[in-house]
Amino acid sequence: MPHSFLYIANPARIVFGPGSLAQINDEVRQLGCAQALVLSTPSRRKDAERLNQQLGNLGVGVFSEAAMHTPVEVTERALQAYAAMGADCVIALGGGSTIGLGKAIAYRNNAPQVVIATTYAGSEVTAILGQTEDGVKTTVKHESILPEVVIYDAELTLGLPVSTSVTSALNAMAHALEGLYAKERNPITALMAVEGIGVLKEALPIIVQQPENLEARNNALYGAWLCGTVLGTVGMALHHKLCHTLGGSFNLPHAETHAIMLPHTMAYNAQAAAEMLAPAAELFAGDLGGGLYDFAQGLQAPLALKELGLAEADLDKVADLAVQNPYWNPQPIERQAVRELLQRAWSGTRPE
Ligand code: NAD
Repeated sequence: MPHSFLYIANPARIVFGPGSLAQINDEVRQLGCAQALVLSTPSRRKDAERLNQQLGNLGVGVFSEAAMHTPVEVTERALQAYAAMGADCVIALGGGSTIGLGKAIAYRNNAPQVVIATTYAGSEVTAILGQTEDGVKTTVKHESILPEVVIYDAELTLGLPVSTSVTSALNAMAHALEGLYAKERNPITALMAVEGIGVLKEALPIIVQQPENLEARNNALYGAWLCGTVLGTVGMALHHKLCHTLGGSFNLPHAETHAIMLPHTMAYNAQAAAEMLAPAAELFAGDLGGGLYDFAQGLQAPLALKELGLAEADLDKVADLAVQNPYWNPQPIERQAVRELLQRAWSGTRPE
């Protein structure tokens, strides 16, 4: 227990449990809203239309162009739709991409947001928005970005493909693991982080075997909420910086990149943050880097950046970008060591 700490909780309303989507109309009304615009990715449009029908008079329509990394041109089209349909709030039905669009709208017009989270990425409980314009990804943090209401209904995650479930949950674990050694860490986020990692570690092998196991899906959403809350409360370090660089500048897919990098970044910080990481290391037989690698391998997660199409020749540039703008990390950021880490992650070598 640290002698002193600062703890600031994000004011979100969490509605958790299988079947909780049934409460959507009450949640919209309780926000004081009556004209909801439903957001989704193109592939989830049918679900969004069904939700719009369920909303009855409270739904004004669907905007289904949400895309990874929240392109600003999509946000601009969504804002036009919002105004044209006379909407007074947004409902984001989906994962981080759809939630990002809802946040981007709210950041510009202060729209109240209801999120129905259907992956484990955790964006729904953070006041952080990452968006891209002309190929450049920038991140903003603002209270208008934090969704007001989050509904976690595991029934909506039963069809989330196993591979997406696995990478998305490893993304969630990354938030919690970096939260354990964050500069602003505190006893409450540490409790959430360890519980979140433990719950996901138990749930994932079951989901791989039985994707429609409601109890495992429900537990995974609980873990994802905890891990996302950690992300929304304390700062992140080397792992998120590297993934941000790989996603933002090399267009690698978000969750897969997190899944591949996690064993390597944890191995990098394992000694410097040994005490803080100890409760998590215990879950992986005392070897966080190797243990996470074995765990990911057992779940058939991608293990090598080369599988995602990153050229080996780009590793130097990734290392250069990642060590620019010094930021806090328990183990000092050294270019040579980061370059070696990247080489291992690129080839998919188990961390020592
Ligand atoms: P995603 O939202 O892109 O979803 C991946 C795919 O799965 C999409 O095609 C989506 O339509 C589909 N999908 C989602 N839920 C489904 C379901 N239940 N059943 C079937 N298919 C489903 O992926 P993600 O990993 O959730 O989000 C990644 C994005 O979120 C990135 O842009 C990342 O930067 C952002 N993100 C932001 C934060 C934050 O705090 N700002 C945190 C985490 C992630």
